[in-house]
Amino acid sequence: MAEPESWDVVVVGGGHNGLACAAYLARAGQRVCVLESRDVLGGAAVTEEPWPGYRVSSASYVVSLLPPQVVRELRLRDFGYRVSIIEPDYYLPYKDGTSLTIWGDAARTAEQIALRSPADAAAYLEFDKYFGRVANLLRDLMTVTPPDLTLRDVLEWVRVGARLRRWTRHDIVDVVRVFTMSAADFLGEWFTDEKVKGALATQALVGSWGGPMSPGSAYVLMHHWVGEVDGHAGAWGWVHGGMGALSEALAGSARSHGARIRTGSPVRSVLVEGGRAYGVELADGGVVRGRRVVSGAHPVTTYLDLVGEEHLPSGVTTAIRRYRSRSGSVKVNLALGHLPVPSAWSGRVPGDPHRGLISISPSIGYLERAWDDAKYGRTSSEPYVELVLPTVLDPGLAPVGKHLALCFTQFGPYQLADGSWDTEREVYGKRVVSLLDEYLPGLAASVEHMEVLSPPDLEARYGLIGGNIMHGELSIDQMFSFRPIPGYADYRTPVAGLYLCGSGTHPGGGVMAVPGRNAAMAVLRDVRRPRAFAPGAVLRRGRVPRGGQGA
Ligand SMILES: Cc1cc2nc3c(=O)[nH]c(=O)nc-3n(C[C@H](O)[C@H](O)[C@H](O)COP(=O)(O)OP(=O)(O)OC[C@H]3O[C@@H](n4cnc5c(N)ncnc54)[C@H](O)[C@@H]3O)c2cc1C
Repeated sequence: MAEPESWDVVVVGGGHNGLACAAYLARAGQRVCVLESRDVLGGAAVTEEPWPGYRVSSASYVVSLLPPQVVRELRLRDFGYRVSIIEPDYYLPYKDGTSLTIWGDAARTAEQIALRSPADAAAYLEFDKYFGRVANLLRDLMTVTPPDLTLRDVLEWVRVGARLRRWTRHDIVDVVRVFTMSAADFLGEWFTDEKVKGALATQALVGSWGGPMSPGSAYVLMHHWVGEVDGHAGAWGWVHGGMGALSEALAGSARSHGARIRTGSPVRSVLVEGGRAYGVELADGGVVRGRRVVSGAHPVTTYLDLVGEEHLPSGVTTAIRRYRSRSGSVKVNLALGHLPVPSAWSGRVPGDPHRGLISISPSIGYLERAWDDAKYGRTSSEPYVELVLPTVLDPGLAPVGKHLALCFTQFGPYQLADGSWDTEREVYGKRVVSLLDEYLPGLAASVEHMEVLSPPDLEARYGLIGGNIMHGELSIDQMFSFRPIPGYADYRTPVAGLYLCGSGTHPGGGVMAVPGRNAAMAVLRDVRRPRAFAPGAVLRRGRVPRGGQGA
């Protein structure tokens, strides 16, 4: 029998964060092996071919949160990463035949808002500056390692403190408000026009298990605001070749530094002896040894399935069982025979909506009613829909003359009160199509193929527990030093030599590669300071959660 392979670091999962982590580690000289269970890399950042000749970003579809620093450091452009800015940011058609266009340029957006409400237009200019300032404060914290709440991590607190020291009292107040307020209350402080509020509230819903009136939804809105594309703050971009091209670029960068990447290699368990991880066992019984193991899988999967309760302090098991990962996101991918034209687009408004994100969100009340259905276990009778037509920007994704429409929608609960997704999948998909047809006449007739990915489908295909696109809800008790659980938010775990690097760690979900980067930095710090990570060292450092976590 062949000797088991042995590496410095084994990375479980070839999602974009696992790949980013591998690339940073390999770049620093570590011998790295990535093991991905699917036959394709990228996890939820993937390009797939559901129908011959169509290359579809089946899950995530637009990029913004990926910092330019990562693109630079990993030389992603050398490995094929190319992105085009999506403009307008949002085009919102209404049934009365009017529309609202939101641009990256605040002055241009204000001109559009002024057609409805001059007061809201003036407020938008101030709001844009205000929200941009708060986004900057949070962006600055994205690349720090969240310190332990008990102040034991003196070094990390010094690092975080150096940033927080620059915050004024106003900054602190504004950040606390964003984390705790509802998007509806928050936007209500600035704007009066229902359509304007509805247009600005959409991102408060994305990936969230709650409506725009739920406390904390203002932060979800902010989470989607901190990004940038090519220096354009808050912009979204289309990755040429689909989102999988970004994952391939990350893989290319990792391979260029010697990383080995294996697909079709599901990991059954993390091997632990004496409180220390020493490799993984594959589903086929093979063993891949590593001095360290980093998991990009969902935290619940990593802790409960791959490690197992027997290797965890009971407080950790309790805390991870409490980790909330619910969702109502449903992706509806469509292949179209021709490009539909929005009825509200007269051509008088500057810009082409086909090149932007098209949102169906006439008011905050509309979004909240969509949520009302979901909280009682029903799919929304009128869902929130955000649509991109990628073939306008990247025609090679479909056969000549054909188009793709990728629709991110909410809500479809994981657990339906009545019936099952086996039948609801098609019903819901058709509902989304006929809703869109009201705004984009002819769309329904042009649909040639449809793929509906419900929360259980997202869980089964990508391992997104509960269908949550962020590997866990973005609420204040699950962010920063609490993500995924208090005491272990620094990418380390109670098992020495085992780390997390996926979206279930700070700063959370989205195609950003930051959790992967931060985790790699934590590993490299421990490589340089090996004594701190002798078996049991973490427990001696008092990392077992106390108080309320049942340790
Ligand atoms: C429908 C949808 C739309 C979205 N839209 C956007 C968007 O437009 N923009 C945006 O920024 N974000 C979007 N997101 C969110 C974003 O895609 C995710 O948050 C992000 O891709 C998660 O990356 P990750 O690397 O942390 O985890 P994942 O992508 O979940 O990767 C984890 C990987 O681990 C693998 N794995 C799990 N268990 C094992 C095992 N035992 N052995 C081996 N491998 C294993 C999985 O197969 C997977 O490849 C969307 C997500 C979804 C689902």
